[in-house]
Amino acid sequence: MKAQVVLSRLQKVRSEGQDRWKACCPAHDDGTPSLSIRALDDGRVLLHCFAGCEVEAILSALSLQFSDLYPDQLLGHGLKGARSRLVSAPQALEIVAKESLLVAVFAADQAQGKLLSESDRSRLMLAAGRIHAAYQEAVT
Ligand SMILES: [Zn+2]
Repeated sequence: MKAQVVLSRLQKVRSEGQDRWKACCPAHDDGTPSLSIRALDDGRVLLHCFAGCEVEAILSALSLQFSDLYPDQLLGHGLKGARSRLVSAPQALEIVAKESLLVAVFAADQAQGKLLSESDRSRLMLAAGRIHAAYQEAVT
C-alpha cells in the first residue's frame, strides 16, 4: 500500500480516521502536525500541508517521487518489460473519451470563474495521466 511508504517516513503520524492521517510536514519546521495524508480508494495518496508547502517540496524532503503517490497501473508503469496489454485499443479510446469529457467539464468550470478545489485539481492530473497511459498502451 502506497500510503504506508509515505507514512513510514513521516514523524508524529497519527490517525485521523479511515485512511486519513496527520503528521509533521518534512518540508518546513513543523512543531505541530500540519501535513494531512489521505489514501484514496483507487490507490492514490494525497498530501496537503496546511502551512502551504508544495507537494514537490514534501516529496523531495521524503526522498520520494510523484510516482510514489500513484498506483502503478494508473501511471502505466511496469508495462515496458513484458508487453501484456492491460487494455485493448477500443478500451484505451473509451478511457480517453471519458477522461477528456471530465477535462472539458473542469475547463468549463474554470471558464466561468469557478476555482477548482484541491481534489478537483488532483483529479484533473489523474485524467491527464490516464489519457497519457491510454495513449502509451494503444501505440506501444
Ligand atoms: Zn509544510
